[in-house]
Amino acid sequence: MSPRPRWITVFIGSEPRMQRMLRYWAATWLLYSLAMLLMFGLIDGGIVDATAGTPLIRFGMTSIFGCYLLIRASDALSLRPAQLAVLQSLLALTCNVGAYALLGPVRGASLMVLLVIMVFSTFSLRTRATLTLCLVASVELAVTMLWMAAAHPDRYPGRIEAVHFGLTVASLLAVSLLTGEMHKLRVRLKRQKEELLVAVATIRTLATIDELTALANRRHMNDVLAAQEQRKGTPVNRTCIALLDLDFFKNINDRYGHAGGDAVLRAFAAAARAELRADDVLARWGGEEFLLMLPDTELSTAAAVVGRIADKVGAMRIDELDRALTITFSAGVVERCPGEPFTDTISRADRAMYVAKSSGRNRIVPERVGSAVAAAA
Ligand code: GH3
Ligand code: MG
Ligand code: MG
Repeated sequence: MSPRPRWITVFIGSEPRMQRMLRYWAATWLLYSLAMLLMFGLIDGGIVDATAGTPLIRFGMTSIFGCYLLIRASDALSLRPAQLAVLQSLLALTCNVGAYALLGPVRGASLMVLLVIMVFSTFSLRTRATLTLCLVASVELAVTMLWMAAAHPDRYPGRIEAVHFGLTVASLLAVSLLTGEMHKLRVRLKRQKEELLVAVATIRTLATIDELTALANRRHMNDVLAAQEQRKGTPVNRTCIALLDLDFFKNINDRYGHAGGDAVLRAFAAAARAELRADDVLARWGGEEFLLMLPDTELSTAAAVVGRIADKVGAMRIDELDRALTITFSAGVVERCPGEPFTDTISRADRAMYVAKSSGRNRIVPERVGSAVAAAA
């Protein structure tokens, strides 16, 4: 999309809230312009007296451009959208009542526009503000009609004005009362939108986080690995994978129960995570098995990181189970070959981990391609 010309930005600003208010203003401006054009036509056709019609056109145009300036300066003047809406509605109502006084036999048509102005205000105002506008419009209309009927009873019979007044006030009142329903609808929509955002955040968390350990789950890790595969690898941009499996975990479950085993898994996850950088990802790969991805890390560094985790986990004391319990794990650590699919890297890590298990457990086995080197943890 081509960038918006600078003069448009000067006119409508760059902030979405301001642009939304100016969109409403533009709709009002269109309505004013049509009404003013009609008024010109009526002056031209001799239906409206030019000495009264021209000042009304001037008042209308000054009001609408004054409103534009106020909206543009609303931030600097700390004017709230509701205050601006009340002011715009008041000016529009006054113009409309003025038009009613001038339109002679076609004045009834202006009362429809009066309703349109009130409908506009229901979108942005609360019931009390709309009812106040309704009262102001009714008073303006009553005074104007009384004056018209008194000054020119032949052209504006009192009974006709009374019917106009009664029907208009009833319609204005009905529209004002609708504002309450509109407001409730807006509040409900806003609340539903907030609830939806919370629900989406919860679903995203459930889809990516392991409930027990709060680590990434297997599905999320697969996404992370797929994204990492898309990265263009360079010789200095290496990734290591480590597979960590807790030793004799079944015995822990047997001795302390499943809840005790869960407590160990949680403690392990917290201890391991504390040793990692922000970019490293540790996931619960299955039961008591964890997959660690270390981006931009070479094999010796990765093995050292896993060694640090082993020290931390070994020193960990789980008070609620048994202070004498020492947790160990066996790990295979590998460096991903350039262009190698992660499934193959993980299989190599799995084989290295198997070597660690079969050579006595509590070990970290870093595996270079083609050569397995065992190092005691
Ligand atoms: P090794 O040293 O060979 O890894 O022996 P191990 O006992 O750790 O391995 P094994 O595969 O025999 O047992 C793993 C146990 O982990 C069995 C399973 O019940 C337990 N386990 C798997 N998931 C959970 C879990 O979420 N909570 C608990 N408490 N235990 C689990
Ligand atoms: Mg195990
Ligand atoms: Mg296992």
